[in-house]
Amino acid sequence: MTSSDIPGMNTGLLPPVSVPVPYRIIALMQERNRLYSCSPEHLAAGIRASRFRCAGCGACCTKAVSSHIFLLDRDVEAVQAIDPAAYVPAPDPEFCDQDGTLYVSGYALRMRDDTTGSCWFLDNGRCRIYDKRFSGCRIYPHMSRRSADTSGSVRWRGFARKYRHGHYDAELSGDESLVLARQVMEYENAYLSQQIAFLETIHEYFLIHDLRHDPVMHRQQVQRLRHGGKVTVRVYHAGDLETWKKADPSGYLR
Ligand code: SF4
Repeated sequence: MTSSDIPGMNTGLLPPVSVPVPYRIIALMQERNRLYSCSPEHLAAGIRASRFRCAGCGACCTKAVSSHIFLLDRDVEAVQAIDPAAYVPAPDPEFCDQDGTLYVSGYALRMRDDTTGSCWFLDNGRCRIYDKRFSGCRIYPHMSRRSADTSGSVRWRGFARKYRHGHYDAELSGDESLVLARQVMEYENAYLSQQIAFLETIHEYFLIHDLRHDPVMHRQQVQRLRHGGKVTVRVYHAGDLETWKKADPSGYLR
């Protein structure tokens, strides 16, 4: 079997969990290589053309607009130093073993249980730690990712949630947009590298401990977690699978 025989491998979408992990790793590596098929200058031109300017509305720092804010490994070290209560396992654990333990690829910022699900650090529409904000916060809403539109065609996406936040009248200099473009590419590379490392770790861990992904158990455990039930969650961080021990899962998976 070659990578092109696998459903989802050549669509530009990350293949589903039913695809064997080694092939998913290959797909992610291919996706990471594709990142560099686009030059920083080209991405910078898109950033300039977006004319995006932050309006300070705070909307992007909410679950209502951004769903969740994923933390790269390096951000986890930073958030631990600022406030250990400010992060939780990222939503939607991908794997569940036959014993009911869930596995997820990293942590995310904790969101409050208010009407919009605002970030733990958002205070009156302002970030309390703006100078120390995290990797994703620094590049948002710019991105360099491929995804399928409603017709199923896969396209590069360079901007998140257009017209749901901010103003669109900025004049960015060539230098400014090029710096931002390089940061975006570095972020996407780090994100994909973390996903690859997560899958490699899972693959090895499941082999050594004679575990397998159980889709039925996965559905049951995710539901249990959503309803506040006790479930063991293991979170990938810096080459290890950490067991999430905090008792209060509020803001997590809701
Ligand atoms: S850390 Fe600050 S910039 Fe990042 S999502 Fe939270 S409030 Fe927004």
